[in-house]
Amino acid sequence: MDYRKGLVVRPSHKVKLGSIDPGFKGSGEDKASAEAKTARLVEKLGDLQYLLYAENRRSLLICLQGLDAAGKDGTIRHVMTGMNPQGTRVHAFKVPSTLEASHDFLWRIHAQAPARGEVVVFNRSHYEDVLVARVHSLVPKKVWSKRYDVINEFENDLVEAGTVILKFFLHISKDEQLRRFKQRLDDPKRRWKISEADYSERKSWPDYVKAYEEALSRTSTDAAPWFVVPADHKWFRNLAIAQIIRDTLDSLGMKTPAPTVDIAEIKRKYHSAAED
Ligand code: AMP
Ligand code: MG
Repeated sequence: MDYRKGLVVRPSHKVKLGSIDPGFKGSGEDKASAEAKTARLVEKLGDLQYLLYAENRRSLLICLQGLDAAGKDGTIRHVMTGMNPQGTRVHAFKVPSTLEASHDFLWRIHAQAPARGEVVVFNRSHYEDVLVARVHSLVPKKVWSKRYDVINEFENDLVEAGTVILKFFLHISKDEQLRRFKQRLDDPKRRWKISEADYSERKSWPDYVKAYEEALSRTSTDAAPWFVVPADHKWFRNLAIAQIIRDTLDSLGMKTPAPTVDIAEIKRKYHSAAED
């Protein structure tokens, strides 16, 4: 299945998360074959990232959004591992610092945008400013409601400057979230990740759904599309995201840059005499 077509939010399409099954496993996928496919895709992603870096013309920005335990960290661990740390960067956006909060909301975001040749993953992003900021009234409605258009313009500018943008919403069910919290509590290595706020945020679940639906509906564009990734099954989430990134990078038709020197001439000058 072509997940790039199947999971994309069509521009101006009104998303209803309630009608998208978080437990979707693709058509005819099973865990073992999906993991094998993902492994091959991840290897290919390494080659494509190398080309992007070598070309030094374009960049890739991947935005990961989702509620707590939706799998943002796991996606990075599983899907990005084939990429060379030289040329790849992950940035996790937390509650804005005093300095960050004293600027416009895109200030800290723009500073982390990828340079030419670079792949950058945003673990949370500027979308928090129309999600948590809206759900918890961190700013008044007249402020957050204007941000959708501002975001579209900002992303459009990045795309014009050569950045390819892919945005993934990791869609999990409320039951799966609770199950993952419990697993974390029971795992001495992962307990540290749990906070009481994770549980109290569950009360705002319907508000987050509304906020996500509006963000997805208003900011999925041809230039910077959103994908709703069913994420109750981690193996499906990894497969779908890896495939979408691979297909997108593949479609750029990137080529290894031509050498800047005359290879034959250099060989003749510096190699033949010594090696003959
Ligand atoms: P975590 O991803 O679990 O490390 O948590 C990061 C926290 O930072 C989450 O609770 C986010 O909602 C919060 N956060 C990220 N960006 C913003 C923002 N722009 N405004 C307020 N809170 C934010
Ligand atoms: Mg958290």
